[in-house]
This record gives sequence, C-alpha cells and structure tokens, in this order.
Amino acid sequence: MIDNKNISKFAISIVEELQKNNYQAFLVGGCVRDLLCSIVPKDFDIATNATPNEIRKIFKASRIIGRRFKLVHIFNRSELIEVATFRSGDDHDKEGNLVKDQSGKILRDNIWGTLEQDTFRRDFTINALYYCPTSGKIEDHNSGVKHIRDKKIVSIGDPSKRFSEDPVRSLRAIRFSNKLNFKIDSNIKDAIYKKGHLLSNISNARIFDEFCKIFLSGLAEKNFRKLVSFGLNRYLIITNPNENAFSDQLINEALRNTDNRVKKNKSVTPGFLIAAMLWPELIKKSSKGGEINLRKFFRSMDQVLKSQQKITAIPRKFHTYIKDIWVLQLKLHSRIGKQPYKTLNHPRFRAAYDFLLIRERASNCNSNLGNWWTKFQKNDRLHQKSLISELKELNDKESYKKFGFTEELI
Ligand code: ATP
Ligand code: MG
Repeated sequence: MIDNKNISKFAISIVEELQKNNYQAFLVGGCVRDLLCSIVPKDFDIATNATPNEIRKIFKASRIIGRRFKLVHIFNRSELIEVATFRSGDDHDKEGNLVKDQSGKILRDNIWGTLEQDTFRRDFTINALYYCPTSGKIEDHNSGVKHIRDKKIVSIGDPSKRFSEDPVRSLRAIRFSNKLNFKIDSNIKDAIYKKGHLLSNISNARIFDEFCKIFLSGLAEKNFRKLVSFGLNRYLIITNPNENAFSDQLINEALRNTDNRVKKNKSVTPGFLIAAMLWPELIKKSSKGGEINLRKFFRSMDQVLKSQQKITAIPRKFHTYIKDIWVLQLKLHSRIGKQPYKTLNHPRFRAAYDFLLIRERASNCNSNLGNWWTKFQKNDRLHQKSLISELKELNDKESYKKFGFTEELI
C-alpha cells in the first residue's frame, strides 16, 4: 500500500539503524496518514521503544529537545527527523505527581510505554498508524486505515475528555478535515463546541504555531470559515469578522491572497497576514466617520498588537514589520512632492502596496490609489514626475485631510 520510494531515505535509514540495535521503530503519524491519502508528507516522524538517551547514543548528529514532551532530533545536512519514544500516557509520574492540571490538561508526558499504549495518546485514529518500511506492514490498533477509507476524523477515546487533556486537538480536527476533505465525527463536533473555550488556557507560543499551520498551508480561507462556524476564530485572532462587512471582506481577501501565494510557491509570512487581519481593529480604534485620527492611530498600533500578543506569541521581528505596513498605508495616501519616492524606496513598500490592493478589494472601492501606485512603481523618473503633477490639484484638496481615508476605503 505504501511505496518506500515516497519516503525520505534518511528517515528509512534511521528506522533501520534502530532496528539493527534491536529496538522497535516505525514511521508514524502524519506521514503515514498522508502517504495513504496520496499526499506528499511534509515531514517524517519516527516512533520507537528506545529511550531518548538510548537514541542519542546511536546517532551522533542528534539532540534531545523538550521538557513537557521529550523528543530526539536527528539531523543530516538537509533534513531533521523527529524521533519519539513510545508513551504509556499514564497520568502520574514516578513520584506519583499529577501531570494534569485542574481542567484536565496534560502538563507532562514522559512516561515510556509500548506501541499499543502509545496509540492511545495520539489524537485521531488516522494519526495513530505505525508503518514499518522493512516489512511493509502497518500497525493499526484503532481502525485508522478504515477511517481513511471512510474519509472521516475519529477521536481515539472520548473526544470530550481528549480535548480537555489538550484543547489544541479541536483546531487539529478542523485543520485535518479541510486538508484531507474528511468528515468530522459528530461526537468530535460536540466536543469542539463543549471544550473549545479551553483554548484560552493554551500558551500563546503554541497557539502561534498552530496559527501558522492553519493559515499558511494554502487552506487559510477554508480553515477560517470552519473555525468561525465552530466559534474558534477568537482564539486565533482578535478581529471579529462579524463586526462589519469590511472586517469580514478584508479578512477573506487577506486569507485568499495568502492561499494564492502558497499555490504559486511564493513566500508567505505570518507578519503580513496578521497586519492585514488586525487592520480593522486598528481602524476601529483610531477613526471616526471615515477619518483617521493620527494620534490615535499611532497610539493604537501597540495596543492592538498587545491584545493579539496575548493569544498568539508573534515573534518580535514581526512587530516592526507589521507596524511598517500599517504606517505605510497612511503614506501611500500622501503623494505630494518627494513623499512617493520615499515610500517607494521603503523596504516594506511591496508588502504595503499588496495590502493596499487587498484593502481596496475588500471595500469594493474604485479609488484609483492602487492603480496609481501600480503605474508609479513601473514607470521611469520622467513619467513618475508627471504622475505626481497630474495629482497636484487633487493633492492640494486632500492635503488638509492629511491621511484621512475616505469612508469607502476603510
Ligand atoms: P501535520 O504535520 O500535517 O500537521 P501531523 O499529524 O504530522 O500533521 P504533527 O503535529 O506533526 O501532526 O504530529 C505528529 C503526530 O503526533 C500526529 O500524527 C499525532 O499522532 C501526534 N500528535 C501531535 N499532536 C498531538 C496532539 N495535540 N494530541 C495527540 N497527538 C498528537
Ligand atoms: Mg507532522
């Protein structure tokens, strides 16, 4: 059923090496699932009964990572393979300490176990398949292969309990159902409604990781729609798409734009998407009747970022990037004298211009601003000059308004 040709040679060599040392070793999780669904896996994970220290001894180029969940990373020049030791999923550690918190969330899972035990700590049956590339056999203790055939996401154990242990599983169920075009089992749907609110207890670092998986893998629009239908969008982004038509449209346009870029193999950054998705919040805080209050605008930038930061840990390097894109939105409106040249030379011009086009599409605005910048950046100095002087009169009229946007534009 699985052709080893579709598996990383490096991953197979690690499995073989572990087996040679008399350990059990399998490819596991997403890669087995994806191979069975004829999807090219993005990475290959390995599960074994060797402990992290034992794995470390066999592979020179490796390191143990994690505390809550210890793993070994084995690497060569171009690949990194994650090797996890089978877990028993026991609630107590050797000292008898509880490793779950009051809401049932797992705080630590480092008690080693057997393959059979390991299957029960995995989230969904389709993710609990263990493939041995040597024998070509799949270990399937929870009917995962059948559920792949039936195209459905089924929880291992009671989803309500499983989602209390780890609320991120709600987000994963939604993500996998869209990625694979699988139906979500009805008891999982109930558990998402019931336990979704526990996502507010998850660290912002983990939510940011999941944010990137949900929105930067080419299915952002579809994922967002499903998140909204379950009411989970608020755990990923503070902007409420139902606030008004513009918020809804802007978010959709930004997500669609990201999906198109992924399809075309262009680079995508969470910074751009976050800047776009938070824009309605920034505008809400700093404008009245279609006019921007500049003082409020600059003051609100940090406030909006801070609120979002509480739910997703946006890496520092993106903060300046996001603010640059926002401030450039103002500058794109000012086309007097030398300003357009300065704006054009800004390192973030391209991103800001892309975002301007998204804003225009989202507001069904036929202002010529986007068009003007499209022409301006393509033309030589002489034509650029005439583009500016053509605007002279308009600029004079607009200048008193400073950067105040027309109502349709925001
Ligand atoms: P993808 O890499 O496409 O997002 P994946 O299934 O490989 O999907 P990973 O996050 O790479 O997801 O995890 C690898 C495997 O570890 C999963 O297939 C699943 O068996 C297990 N796993 C990961 N996260 C969880 C979780 N939150 N709860 C239970 N099991 C999990
Ligand atoms: Mg994976």
